[in-house]
Formats: sequence, structure tokens, C-alpha cells
Amino acid sequence: METRWIRLQKGNTDLKAIREAGEIIRRGGLVAFPTETVYGLGGDALNPASSNKIYAAKGRPSDNPLIVHICRWEDLPPIVKEIPPQAKALADAFWPGPLTMIFQKSDLVPKETTGGLSTVAVRYPDHKQALEFIKAAGGYIAAPSANTSGRPSPTEGKYVYEDLSGKIEMLLDDGLVSIGLESTIVDLTEEIPVILRPGYITEEMLQRVLGEVCADPTILHVAADAAPKAPGMKYRHYAPKGDLTIVTGQMETVVSKVNALSGQAMEQGVKVGIIGTDETISSYQADVKKSVGKRTDEAAIARRLYQILREFDDENVQLIYSEAFDDTGIGQAIMNRLLKAAGHKVLTVT
Ligand code: AMP
Ligand code: MG
Repeated sequence: METRWIRLQKGNTDLKAIREAGEIIRRGGLVAFPTETVYGLGGDALNPASSNKIYAAKGRPSDNPLIVHICRWEDLPPIVKEIPPQAKALADAFWPGPLTMIFQKSDLVPKETTGGLSTVAVRYPDHKQALEFIKAAGGYIAAPSANTSGRPSPTEGKYVYEDLSGKIEMLLDDGLVSIGLESTIVDLTEEIPVILRPGYITEEMLQRVLGEVCADPTILHVAADAAPKAPGMKYRHYAPKGDLTIVTGQMETVVSKVNALSGQAMEQGVKVGIIGTDETISSYQADVKKSVGKRTDEAAIARRLYQILREFDDENVQLIYSEAFDDTGIGQAIMNRLLKAAGHKVLTVT
């Protein structure tokens, strides 16, 4: 299959292309599309065959459910059993936006879309062209991130093309996304809402609306006895090809330890990459050095992280060292993704 790569003009809605994309979805085909978080790999959420195609295109295990994307609040009731008052409050505060909520599903949603679960994850994205596309497609788009399973989520159209060319009918490309990490997932089927995946909508922001909210303990730690409740969180996601270790401690000690390790590896002919910040990057010695941005600018770090991991892949970096970041606010999401990319390999220096 040939993939049509349509370059949308940033901010402008190319209605002709988007209508065609909607037609493809209605016929049971797949289209990758931009959202404010990362690119999505979309199919008709109410068509079991489409969901199966999504799993196949991504190489994703079929017990890992997809998120259903809607473009209007009114489209929520038909696909869920009930809407808890907390969901209404969260929607008022954060929809459209980078927040996914888990509900008990109605019979309209096939089990293929929910990975066999009786619950459904729903998101209402804050992205003009995504909303037009969802509308053109009939209102319900099932979409995981538009990457091959196990690779970093795509923050630019070119990365989607790299992973999915030949496997989808169309790619709607809107350039670099604005957030760069996947949506926050909150489970509302429990008495106290649980954050299953941290994101741009932080724990503090949710707390302000809900009063009480708890975070799945596996977000920042490997728990031997606890399985994450979002099935997708158990897989080693977001993995770069190079072997990544996070180095944490006092910054000067981190820099000298990383330089020592990097020097040894380079002597043996290993290609080394370093993820630093604007404040530190010039102090490192390695084959490839990349800054994620200013340490104080969490939004910029979130937007740049996956891009850097992809760039290291392109440059065939074999060994990667990264600084650690604060794990509060958006930092919780940044560290969650970085830890997963590193397979939880952390070196603490004193
Ligand atoms: P992705 O679209 O690649 O960001 O993946 C979707 C994420 O949402 C995965 O981590 C899924 O496990 C999670 N998810 C989707 N539906 C549910 C659900 N019904 N219950 C819990 N987690 C879900
Ligand atoms: Mg994903």
C-alpha cells in the first residue's frame, strides 16, 4: 500500500484532504493524524476490523487497548455506561485537551478497541485539524500513538512516515506537535480517581479539580508485586536503539561521572550520546551531545525528549547517558517516559 503524505499548513485546515481522510476511516482504512500531544494512528473506533488493523500496523499486542478520540462532549454518552460527576468536572476544566479518562464502556464499543476490557479510554483533543478529521470520520477515532510498538512516540510527521509508510493509507502532517508527550490517563471507574499515566495535565492540576486523586505506584518505580493498570504501561515502551542510563546526583558530580564513563566507552570504539540541558551541555565530552532545553522549562523538555531519542537512533548512537529531571509537575511525565526508555536503569552518583 502506498501512503499518501499530506502536508497540512500549520494552523490552516485543509478541508479537502481532511474529508478524504475521513472517507478512508469510514471505509475501514487507517490514517495517521496530528494532535497536540503526539501523532495518532487512527481507525474507526466502532469497527472491530479497523482496530485489528491498527494493532497489526503498529506491531502492538492486541491486549493493549486504544484510546477513543471524540470531537464533541455530546458524543461521549453513547460510548460509556455512565458519566461520573468527576468526569464532568474534569471535562469542564481540561477538555478539549491532553487528558484521557477511563469509563465503563457501552455495547457500541467493540472489545477489539478496548483490548478485551470492559472499560474504554476517551480523549477530546485540543487540535483544530484533529477535530475536523474526527468529525469527517464519523465521530469516533481509535488511536494509539503513531509509532511502531517499542519506538518513541512520533512528535513530527517524518517520524510517522519512517515507522508506518506502506502500512497506512494517509498521513496528515502538521509539523512538530506542541506538547510532545502522550496524554495524562485518569481512571474514573475507581472510587478515588487514579492516574495511570502522567502527562501535561499534572497531578496537582487534577487534585485542584477532584480533591482526591492517587497515582499508580508503577509510574516512577518498578513494583515487583504491582502490575500497572494501563495495560500499555507494562511494556518496555519508548525505547531508543542505544543503551540508555539515567545518571542522577549533584550536577557537578554527574557531569564528571558521565564524562569518565563516556571517555572509557569511546576509547573502546563505542559511539556515545549524552542528553544534557542548556546549563550543562558544553561541559560534556561525547560523540553526540544534545540539550533538551533549559532545566527550568519543563514544557520545552517534554516537547524535545522523544525527538532526541529518535535523533540518537538515526545517528546510530550505541550508549546514551541522560541527566535526571525533577519528578514533580510535568517532570513526573518526563521522568516516567525517560525511566521507561532506560528500562529503569539509574546510576546514582555521590
Ligand atoms: P497510546 O495511545 O500509545 O498512548 O496507548 C494508549 C494507552 O492507554 C496505553 O497505555 C493503554 O494501556 C491505555 N489504555 C487505553 N484504554 C485503557 C483502558 N480501558 N484501561 C486502562 N488503560 C487504557
Ligand atoms: Mg504509545
